[in-house]
Order: sequence, then structure tokens, then C-alpha cells
Amino acid sequence: MINSEIRYLLRKIVGKEYCIVDVDEVALFLYDETERFLRPQASQECVVVKPENEQEIAEIVKIANSESIPVVVRGGGTGLCGAAIPTYPSIIISMERMNRIVAIDEKNFMIKVQSGITLKGMNALLNQRVNLYFPAKLGEDTAQVGGLVAQNAGGAKVGKHGVMRNNVKGMRVVLSSGDIVSFGGSLKKNNAGYDLMQLMIGSEGTLGIITEVTLQLFSKTNFNSGILVSFDSYTEATEVVNRILRKGITPLTIEYLDRSIAMRTAEYLGEEWPLEKGEVFLLFELSEKNEAELFNASVGIEEVCSRMGVVDYIVLNSIKERNRILEIRSNTYHATKNLLVDSLDISVPPAEIPNLMKHFNHIARKYNAIIDTVGHVGDGNVHNNIYLKNGEVPEYYEDMKVELYQIAISIGGSITGEHGIGKIRNKNLKMQLSKEEIELMRGLKQLFDPKGIMNPDTAIY
Ligand SMILES: Cc1cc2nc3c(=O)[nH]c(=O)nc-3n(C[C@H](O)[C@H](O)[C@H](O)COP(=O)(O)OP(=O)(O)OC[C@H]3O[C@@H](n4cnc5c(N)ncnc54)[C@H](O)[C@@H]3O)c2cc1C
Repeated sequence: MINSEIRYLLRKIVGKEYCIVDVDEVALFLYDETERFLRPQASQECVVVKPENEQEIAEIVKIANSESIPVVVRGGGTGLCGAAIPTYPSIIISMERMNRIVAIDEKNFMIKVQSGITLKGMNALLNQRVNLYFPAKLGEDTAQVGGLVAQNAGGAKVGKHGVMRNNVKGMRVVLSSGDIVSFGGSLKKNNAGYDLMQLMIGSEGTLGIITEVTLQLFSKTNFNSGILVSFDSYTEATEVVNRILRKGITPLTIEYLDRSIAMRTAEYLGEEWPLEKGEVFLLFELSEKNEAELFNASVGIEEVCSRMGVVDYIVLNSIKERNRILEIRSNTYHATKNLLVDSLDISVPPAEIPNLMKHFNHIARKYNAIIDTVGHVGDGNVHNNIYLKNGEVPEYYEDMKVELYQIAISIGGSITGEHGIGKIRNKNLKMQLSKEEIELMRGLKQLFDPKGIMNPDTAIY
């Protein structure tokens, strides 16, 4: 229970303006982007605080700790696993005011930011100031850097540089005790003890509050291009991806879209989809060091596509055209979400994608269901849309989902490649993890958060 005395103390820390108790205003902070039929019910008895700095967060958490009140950190609220939804009366810490770049270290190719800066905000400022960039490209760039770290986000441009886990170098964290710690730094190499920073990445707000993040940056290049191709079926398209990767070509982006999703999203945005023929599409983006490398990679992709029966293709030379197609790809969730029960997030070793897709089609036929697919096939991560039937969750949904998870796990995969466990996949976690792994995770949670106040019922319980 967040009584009036606690509200008074919270107001004293952040100021009246930044302590929200009005029910209608609090309601704006209770849900994220999780599919409406999947998300848990939020508690209405929450208070939202908007701290200005790390010290204020530490003071808030000390109160929460001494009173055993749950704390839910809120980033951009774009999450897709219900992780930011408070299911108990909670103090919601909204990070939106902590949105500054702390430093850009051009010599070491690094940037230090407050964790409440959005991806969009950080990229815009970076663009103005230096010839360096951060590669993450999510479907939703209002996500905050702290949220990206807490969810170990991926996205459409991780082919060359990896996911968040590969590019976070340091962070500052407020622990559940209210103590402040610093993990990692601007280091390329660091072998001092267990890697607690990596443990925080993907911890979904359950181990501490990330207040500052140091990220690896990369040099921009002028040698960029894109190709959009189509095929008659997933069989050829997914095999093409494997062959291209086996050739040693590493595109920045390899995105897959079924025609139904591409068309629906183009229409939703009032855009034209440029290819008329073919049932499935692959979008490649290349970013190379020089003209010769760009030429070789482009020719390599074209050769493999021709050999595998490409139906149609277009070269996307201008950045405007590449961004237009990527924007359509990025909006697939928004264009379909009202029709969806679930957009799965399965990941398998990349070479297993053709096998996974074959199983998906078999299972869809078995349940007489429509499952269409969009995703980061180059990373082995696909989003399979399961649709509502007459506006309701179809009776086969749970069984079919479990079967899809079982298939993925049987070929070395994961039930979630980027969206996380949150509050909607906890019950499926034991399908993938061993008893020993779960016990170790519980032990870590107990160590970091003995009172269990940090985002309860999330990820592991
Ligand atoms: C249209 C759309 C497209 C998307 N595309 C992608 C994609 O391509 N790739 C991908 O990986 N994801 C994608 N997502 C999912 C989502 O954007 C990511 O999970 C993102 O990382 C969430 O960031 P956020 O700031 O919105 O976090 P929130 O949703 O606010 O929070 C997510 C979790 O992180 C915790 N958290 C937030 N900030 C902090 C902090 N500072 N310290 C500790 N914990 C914190 C919260 O408590 C919560 O548990 C997409 C979502 C949408 C709606």
C-alpha cells in the first residue's frame, strides 16, 4: 500500500510536479505495447515518479526497500512481454527526464548516456555531432537506452555488430538497497571477476535500475546499398540467406517478410510496396568499407538469388528508398497488432531457419491456422503472427504455441530471441531452461533483491 506518508516522502525527493498520483495520469504508465489479449492486468494503485538524477533514484529505492514496496522502472513503454506492467501496487520510476548525453569519447569510439534517452534522441544528437553511429534499429525508436539494455534488444541492423549485449561497455546501477554501483567502463578488455554488467543486460528491471550506459560506436561509411528481392516461397528465400552467410557476406540487415504482412503494412502507412511478384521478400542492407567490398557483396547476393530462382528484385541505392522499405518493415507490428493474439519471437541457430519454417507450416496446417512471418532471418530470429479468430483468441492458441516452442527448442532454439520473458512467458521458461539454471537464476535474484521488490513476477519467479 502506498500511503499518504510515502507519497509525501516521494514528493519531497522529486518535487510535486514529478510525483503523479492522479488515477487518469497514472493510467498512462500502466501498460506497454504487449498484445492486448496477452498482457497481465495492471494494478491501478501505483504512484509514478520522474526523477532527475541517480541520487533521487537511490533515495526513492531506499524508501521502497524499507517499506517493501515493488518498484517498476519504466523506459519508453515499448516492450512486448509485459515487463513494464506493474501487477502490484508499485512505485513506477519513469526515466524520461534522465535523457542527456553525458559524453562522447571519439578517440575510443564510445558514448556515455543517461539511460532515459530514447534511441531516436541519441541518434539525432550523435548525427549532429560526430561521424560515428550506434547500429541498433528497432521497430520502435522511442524505446530508451535503459530499456534496450534491460531487454537486450536486437532489431534489424545487428547482422554486423551484434545485439545490445555485444555493444554495452559500462553502466551505473542503483541496486535494490539504494546503493549505487558502476560496472565495466570504456574498456575493450576487462577480465576482473564475474561480469556483473552482462548479468544486468536482459535482466528486465528485476536486478537494479540502470541509470547510465556506455556504448560502443562505429564509423560511418559512404559505401551503403540495399536490395529487395522476392521468391515464390519461404523454402528458397531462407535457403538463400544461408548460402549468402556461408559465402562470408555479412549484410547489416537481412529481413524477411511474407507478402500478406508487407502489403497490409504498406497500406496501413499509405505507401506503395515496390515488388508486385513473389510471395515472400528479403530485404538486404549492405554497409561496407570501400567500393570494391560493396560491389563484391552485392554481386554475391545477386548470384545466389538468381541461382535460387529469384522472382523479382529492386536495388535500393538511395538512402531514402532504403529507409522507406525499412520503415514499412518497422511498422509491421503496429499494422497488425489489433488483429493479433501473439507475435512470437522464436530464435534458432541461423542455419536452422529453413527447418523451423517447414515445421511452422506443418503446425499451421494441423491447426488450420494462419501464421505469417516477419523477422530478422539473418540472426535466426523470426516473429510469427498468430491471429484472432472472429475477434477472439482461438481455442488452439495455447496448444499451438507450446508446439511451436517445442519445435524451436528441439532444434537448439529459444522461446524468445529479443522481446524477453517479462510477465507473459514465465510459465514457458521451464520448457527451455533446466532446473539447475532456474535455481541459479533464483539465487542471483535473491542476492540482488532479497526483498523481491524489483519488478516482481517478471522474467523468473
Ligand atoms: C513496433 C515495435 C517494434 C519493436 N521492434 C523491436 C526490435 O526490432 N527488436 C527488439 O529487440 N525489440 C523490439 N521491440 C520491443 C521493445 O522496443 C524493446 O524491448 C525495447 O528494448 C524496450 O525498451 P523501452 O525503453 O520501451 O522499455 P520498457 O518497455 O519501458 O521496459 C521494458 C523492461 O525494461 C525495464 N527497464 C526499462 N528501463 C530500465 C532501466 N533504466 N533500468 C532497469 N530496467 C529498465 C522495465 O522495467 C521493463 O522490465 C519493438 C516494440 C515495438 C512496439
